[in-house]
Amino acid sequence: MAEIVNYPLLALVGQEEMKTALILAAINPRLRGVLLLGPRGTGKTTAARGLVDLLPPVQQSSCPHGCDPRLAAISMEYICPDCAEKLEKGEDITYLAPMQLVELPLNATMDDVIGGPNPRVALEQSRWQLQQGILHYAHHNVLYVDEVNLLDEEIVNCILDAASRGYYVVRRGRLIGTFPSEFLLIGSMNPEEGSLRPQLMDRLGLRVVVAPVQDAQQRLDVYERNRRFADDSVSFAASYADETMTLADEIASAKDLLPKVTIPPRIAESAIRLINSLHIQSHRAEIVLLEAARARAAADGREEVAEEDVAVVAPPALRQRRSDYMERFVKDSRKEDERIANGVKRILGIEKR
Ligand SMILES: [Zn+2]
Repeated sequence: MAEIVNYPLLALVGQEEMKTALILAAINPRLRGVLLLGPRGTGKTTAARGLVDLLPPVQQSSCPHGCDPRLAAISMEYICPDCAEKLEKGEDITYLAPMQLVELPLNATMDDVIGGPNPRVALEQSRWQLQQGILHYAHHNVLYVDEVNLLDEEIVNCILDAASRGYYVVRRGRLIGTFPSEFLLIGSMNPEEGSLRPQLMDRLGLRVVVAPVQDAQQRLDVYERNRRFADDSVSFAASYADETMTLADEIASAKDLLPKVTIPPRIAESAIRLINSLHIQSHRAEIVLLEAARARAAADGREEVAEEDVAVVAPPALRQRRSDYMERFVKDSRKEDERIANGVKRILGIEKR
C-alpha cells in the first residue's frame, strides 16, 4: 500500500505569516482557529495538511464507528455493541495516534456535521440510533473547512459554536445528547467567490491573507519543490524530517509553557490602546491579540509577553475586524441615549445618574 505523505509545512516557500498563525493557533486553543483568505493554488490546503504532522499525538478511537469512552460515559446507547463488550472487560477502545485532518465536504448536510440516523440500524432493527458526524470525528483533531464562505449558514454557525464551546448538542425527537468536540478549526476562503458575513468572520481568531509569492526566485523554488514532492513524496518529506521534528517538539513545549505565560500590564495597556486607535468594536479583538501574543512568547520559550509579540501578531489578530457599520451604530445609539436622557430631565425632572 502506498504511503500517504503530507507536503511538509516547513517546505512551503514564503507564507511566513500563514505558518506562524497556524502554529500559534495549535499552541493556544483560545485563538479559536485560523481563517486563510486567498485565491486558489496558494497552498492553503497543503499548509493545513502539513500542520497536522507537527502536532502531538492524541487518543483516537480504535473503532471504525469512532466509539469514544466519553460517549459511553454519557450513555451506552452511543457506542457499538463490540465496544460496549470491550469496555465491560476493561479493554481500551482508544489508542495514542497522530492527529488527523478532518475535512468538511462542501456539500455537507446538518446530519453529516452533527450526526444523523444510522441507516443500517434503521433498516435492520427499525429503530433510531445516532450515527456520529464530522464534529465527532473532529474531536482532538484538526477540522479543515475549505470555502467556508460558500457553506450553508446554519452549518457554519454550528461548527463555530462547537469550536468555541468544545461540545455540541444533538436534538432529535426525544433524544438530546451533548457530545465533546474540541478541535483546531482552520477555515479557508477565496474572497473572489463571495464574502463571509462579518459576525462569522469575527469568530475565527486569526486571519491570514495568503497572497501568491511574487519574487521570481521564490516562484521557481515553489515549482522545484513541488516537482520533487511529485517525483518522490517520501524522500522529499524525509529531507524535512529533522526540522519538522524539532518544530513539533517546540510546539509541544510551548503548549506546556503557555499556562505560565503572563502579560506585563504596560504591554496589555498598549495592546488595548492599539485596538481603540483602530476603532475596533469587538471584544474578541483583545482576546485574540493578547492570547496570540502569549502563544508567541511560549513558542519562543519565554514566560512573559514582550512588545514584539504584540507587534508580530497584530496583523493576523486585528485585520478585517473593524466594522464601519458597528462604529456608526454605536455612535448613533450614544446620541440617541443623550436625547432620551435630556427628555427625561426636561419632562420628568430626573437627572441621569
Ligand atoms: Zn465501536
